[in-house]
Amino acid sequence: MNSDYRQARYEEELLIKRSEEKDIEENPLPENIARKESAKIPDLPTHEVVRYFNRLSHMNYGVDTGFYPLGSCTMKYNPKFTEKLAAMPEATELHPYRPEEFSQGTLEIMWELQQQLAELGGMDSISLQPAAGAQGEITGLMIAHQYHKNNDDERNEVILPDTAHGTNPASVSMMGYELVEIPSEDGCVDLEALEEAAGENTAAFMITNPNTLGLFETEASQMAEIIHEAGGLLYYDGANLNAIMGKTTPGEMNFDIMHFNLHKTFSTPHGGGGPGSGPVGVTEKLASYLPVPVVEKDEEGYSLNYDLENSIGRVKGFYGNWLVMLKAYAYILHEGSDGLEKASERAVLNSNYLRKKLEPHLNLPYKPLRKHEFVLSGKKMKDKDLKTKDLAKRLLDYGYHAPTIYFPQLVEEALMIEPTETESKQTLDGLAEAVASIMEEDKETIEEAPKNTSVRRVDETKAIRDSTLSYMMRD
Ligand SMILES: *Cc1c(COP(=O)(O)O)cnc(C)c1O
Repeated sequence: MNSDYRQARYEEELLIKRSEEKDIEENPLPENIARKESAKIPDLPTHEVVRYFNRLSHMNYGVDTGFYPLGSCTMKYNPKFTEKLAAMPEATELHPYRPEEFSQGTLEIMWELQQQLAELGGMDSISLQPAAGAQGEITGLMIAHQYHKNNDDERNEVILPDTAHGTNPASVSMMGYELVEIPSEDGCVDLEALEEAAGENTAAFMITNPNTLGLFETEASQMAEIIHEAGGLLYYDGANLNAIMGKTTPGEMNFDIMHFNLHKTFSTPHGGGGPGSGPVGVTEKLASYLPVPVVEKDEEGYSLNYDLENSIGRVKGFYGNWLVMLKAYAYILHEGSDGLEKASERAVLNSNYLRKKLEPHLNLPYKPLRKHEFVLSGKKMKDKDLKTKDLAKRLLDYGYHAPTIYFPQLVEEALMIEPTETESKQTLDGLAEAVASIMEEDKETIEEAPKNTSVRRVDETKAIRDSTLSYMMRD
């Protein structure tokens, strides 16, 4: 692709402004709960509405439009067959209060998914309840907290490496724990620093492996020894599981608690705030602490158990995000263990291939060999008196979604790229060529980017500080 990429541009008003407002003619609700003012529903024929939303989608960029190498987010192409399954009435019309004996198929799928995830994580028990990775983290820390409490063990610290994903420190502070950050050495955990930080106050150590630099922490077992010795628990942030499936498991690395991001690793498109699913897995000794319900199986069939001895309680309503679970289940069955292992191998291969292609144009800090993602530094942009951000914006003009930038923070002008297993060699070559070409361009061209997208450069500070939700704009 070259810089001739063009995104559609339409002047779209809100639907409500394009039609007469209509009220509900006959309100079937009892008078005391019916709204008094007009409901202000736009009065438009179906095809106008279909066209409106199609046009809006042309102004957008997504994984179905092009390459989306957003580091850490695993924006791979998700097969459409899982969407079809999740749209079937048998899946969508499940009522949360339907008796268990009439929901046996659903419960069977959930139970089997628990088994599959336990195997993929090397864990003994799974709860499918949490709705996202971040909620899985909180759930895991609640489990750790309850476990220590039951042992009359007051511990108030959680240790994190400086490569941690932003949700990790957020979860730690939401739980009211003290955050102990340790520096890394050559991008990986420094065992001496860990040893120094670990002690009788350590409730847990949280880490993702491979870490956010895409480096595999080969000393995970030693870390486990240090933390267990100190009486703490190990939490594995499973958002990067797509780099190691079929090769190793958090269980094998001696972790006690973990979460999975079904919406990253197992085929659910994500972004825009949902939907997700972040099941939590634990080893045997923590099984009774999981949030309820968990699905169980006996001679009579499948049932929901709400009565785990030490359970932290409920973290989500009813079944959790069932449709995301169904998609993950179908994807795992479709791929099989061989397919999942291949997916990880290809994710790692693609990452290293693209890293090699980009290295001549940008700087690569830390060790070269990466897992599923890698982090470059865009500090060469400074030669043009520009920043990584300008490079990211200019890539949009070439038809590529910008990578993650300025994260992780320990890399100057960071540019974090995750190609994922679904991209072809041609696509990866295309991105590398685009970067090479941008590095040759003059300052003015880059500074003006993006020119070819439906929305030009936005004022990001204003967008955050002064946001206007458009559905509130009705006057
Ligand atoms: C995405 C991600 C998370 C958070 O997951 P959400 O489902 O977005 O809440 C946590 N850790 C890492 C490393 C991630 O990439």
